[in-house]
Amino acid sequence: MAAITLVNLTKAYGHTRVVDDVSLEIKDGEFFVFVGPSGSGKSTILRLIAGLIELSGGDIRFDGESVVVLPPRDRNVAMVFQNYALYPHKSVYDNIAFGLRARKVPEEEVRQRVEKAAAMLGVESFLNRWPKELSGGERQRVAIGRAIVRQPRTYLLDEPLSNLDARLRIEMRNEIANMHRRLATTFVYVTHDQIEAMTLGDRIAVINHGKIEQMDTPADLYDYPANQFVAGFIGSPPMNFVEGTFHRDTERDRVRISLPLGYLGLEGEPTEVLPLRNGDAVIMGIRPESVNLDAHGSSSVEGEVSRIEPVGREGLIHLNVLGWDMIARVPNWREYRDAKKLLMGIHIDETHLFRPDSGRCVWSKGKTMKNT
Ligand code: ADP
Repeated sequence: MAAITLVNLTKAYGHTRVVDDVSLEIKDGEFFVFVGPSGSGKSTILRLIAGLIELSGGDIRFDGESVVVLPPRDRNVAMVFQNYALYPHKSVYDNIAFGLRARKVPEEEVRQRVEKAAAMLGVESFLNRWPKELSGGERQRVAIGRAIVRQPRTYLLDEPLSNLDARLRIEMRNEIANMHRRLATTFVYVTHDQIEAMTLGDRIAVINHGKIEQMDTPADLYDYPANQFVAGFIGSPPMNFVEGTFHRDTERDRVRISLPLGYLGLEGEPTEVLPLRNGDAVIMGIRPESVNLDAHGSSSVEGEVSRIEPVGREGLIHLNVLGWDMIARVPNWREYRDAKKLLMGIHIDETHLFRPDSGRCVWSKGKTMKNT
């Protein structure tokens, strides 16, 4: 097991910094996820930790000790990739055993470790098969088995589920979560899929253009996004955004946001601490589940139904509200099946306010955000 510390980690290709001054601490035994769009630098961070590529600046420490001079094999990490390259002319058993034999582990111990890993992953019954005789999910399990037998102090997983179909992805997601519980070892996991990140991670770092946008627990990322990027990236369907203007009515000690949808009064923590001035442009963020179609919200306005997406019993109602596209999540879409127009209300205490220039969140769910 290992705690991993990244200190001002930087990787540049030419003049482009693809990992830009990343500092963070991954706790011993933690399931830590890097999530971000394609090309944001996630895999590069993982490869730097593994030692597969050299850093341009900063430091990487395992349990407080710098490992940057150590070659990959001496870092004692195991990596699982999206393209689980198994040796096609070796049996499943030999594929799993390969790394151990390369390290000259005695054959009896190899057998014990392979059998233990195979049992953990449910692949005992096809140890004698060839990789081509396995399904994609089974192959991925074998690839994970290859990592497990080495008993590394850290697992690095790079989009391990991307090549699997949707159903298998959910199945393997559960298996990976179980594996982490059983192995009680540090897992560092890279994905572009925010749902994978949210369901697996103890903590998540959202990466964009090689920088950390925010690092938090899944619940806090969702409830208190630090900026508009994170707010739009985490959550599916994404948060609705509407432009508005900030008004402070000092006489009546009230704060209001005027939106194309109407006026909304803010409630919550004392609003005088809000770092906004009269007339400041703001962007209001509203999660689809905070759009209320029963018109009991603090304000309501009429929208035209443009599309209904059933998701089982739940549904997503797409509305055109004075030219703005809004998505509402409803518990039972059938109630709205014949609706052409609906009154939309907003749960004000569930909304978020962002500055249009910096994208920083200044107010979230009734709380003023720090460092805005
Ligand atoms: P992610 O894993 O988030 O999809 P990567 O870490 O793979 O992103 O890549 C981050 C950026 O670094 C991308 O823009 C990619 O094109 C660039 N990059 C990766 N490897 C190299 C390389 N060997 N030479 C030049 N640029 C690279």
